[in-house]
Amino acid sequence: MMVIETAESYFARTPGTPGAERVIHLHWYRRDVARFVPTEIAPSPVAVAVVNYGRWIVRCPFCRGAQFAARDDRRFFCTECLNEAVARRWIRVRWPAAATITGIDEALLARPGDHWRNWEPGASVVQLLAENAAGNWHHSWSTPRDWTTGEIVTASIMNTHVRDEFNEAVAAQASSAVLAIQVFG
Ligand SMILES: [Zn+2]
Repeated sequence: MMVIETAESYFARTPGTPGAERVIHLHWYRRDVARFVPTEIAPSPVAVAVVNYGRWIVRCPFCRGAQFAARDDRRFFCTECLNEAVARRWIRVRWPAAATITGIDEALLARPGDHWRNWEPGASVVQLLAENAAGNWHHSWSTPRDWTTGEIVTASIMNTHVRDEFNEAVAAQASSAVLAIQVFG
């Protein structure tokens, strides 16, 4: 079954470990700090869950990191910066209402590929469905992909988001160079 991925669907099943803690157990990067699970939750800031390339993710508000969002455990702890900004506590994650999540997931899964499965707060399900109805799926330069902790980087991900994007950029540059020669040559 195809799903918009979450921490629960993506990471190995670890019975007894809530979704947001899986990344701590499976993908602890820091060699200078022994692994720990925070016990407290900071009152602020609150991070937001967004959809990026077919994945519900949370962007770290403190560093450049990002993680799969845990739908059933709405906390976030960055295994890169360790949430140092809030004294190594969890922060909360805001999700849309349950019915809206379902609407977003269904609208995005109706699209032909992960390229077009993106959602940010402010876009309604009605808007997503209207975009689906328009069905204009051609793209050249695509929405940047967020890299997430613990995600397996495959050849197709790298080829799509690095090679193909560079190819687009080189082609665009070459055509503006030609234009410059035509105008100024
Ligand atoms: Zn961070």
